[in-house]
Amino acid sequence: MNSVVRYFTDIYKGVTSLWTGMKVTGKYFISPGEIVTEQYPENRATLKMEDRFKGEVIMPHDENNQHKCTGCGICEVNCPNGSIEIITKKVPNEQGKMVRAIDKHIYHLSMCTFCELCIKTCPFDAITWGQDFEHAVFDRTRLTRVLNRPGSSLKKKEVKS
Ligand code: SF4
Ligand code: SF4
Repeated sequence: MNSVVRYFTDIYKGVTSLWTGMKVTGKYFISPGEIVTEQYPENRATLKMEDRFKGEVIMPHDENNQHKCTGCGICEVNCPNGSIEIITKKVPNEQGKMVRAIDKHIYHLSMCTFCELCIKTCPFDAITWGQDFEHAVFDRTRLTRVLNRPGSSLKKKEVKS
């Protein structure tokens, strides 16, 4: 194909490609009943993210303020960029023996790459994805969270089969 033919062929392909895209745009422009965009933030009260959405790492607590984190530190070891810090303490168990428990599960959202290694390797399913996505702050320190709530305690030991 000589260069002149290729030149006009490229123009033709460009125009037809543009026309194909504009047809879709035009269809939704003249058919307001088929609105597919979300009106954010007006829809904030009803906005529901998809289940697979990764907003931030969270630690679920039940109605008794209990969680499943034993403070084993596996998530901290597996996090590739130090976004998790596990601080433990000693507490007496039912037999009066001092055992390790979580003191603070610290999560640095500002450093998290959402790789999910911490969640996938936690042997107790103690952490998961939360769906909050409004993380814009003026003070970076507000993106560091303690995932175990004040006064919370270990629910029970559950090991993945
Ligand atoms: S979240 Fe899971 S892996 Fe991390 S310290 Fe707690 S129990 Fe261990
Ligand atoms: S998702 Fe990845 S980067 Fe974020 S805290 Fe977990 S292991 Fe670390």
